[in-house]
Amino acid sequence: MKETHVTMGDSAAFLRERGIKPSYTRRRILECIANCASHPTVEMIFQELHDELPTLSKTTVYNVLKLFEEHDIVQSVVMDDQGIRYEFNTEFHGHMKCIKCKQVFDIDLDVKVLESKEHEILTTKVVLTGICFDCRFTNNKSKTN
Ligand SMILES: [Zn+2]
Ligand SMILES: [Zn+2]
Repeated sequence: MKETHVTMGDSAAFLRERGIKPSYTRRRILECIANCASHPTVEMIFQELHDELPTLSKTTVYNVLKLFEEHDIVQSVVMDDQGIRYEFNTEFHGHMKCIKCKQVFDIDLDVKVLESKEHEILTTKVVLTGICFDCRFTNNKSKTN
């Protein structure tokens, strides 16, 4: 997994470079998503920042993420009924959700598989389900139904 560290000073410059006014809220949301290994939802980001930014609303989080997405800073992926998840990595890859621990993992995919001679593919969001490494080999004695 690629590690991304956006520090306070960097995040302001990062946003300014992309033509976004670096308000404190935007910077904190960017840092939150850039340092998050999983794929947080609006709710998760809200919970994370809510103590620090008591006036923050979920609508604001959503709108900031939408703005970031328009600028290719984050990408969204719908995995399940928890809603849209966001991530800092905008490079093409697929996602696998573990049916046991419910975590979301990045999966490398061969883009060629997704080419079509007849159709023009516009978005390539690939969502898979499976059982992650940890669940396969560490907790395989616990029964699930
Ligand atoms: Zn798992
Ligand atoms: Zn991902």
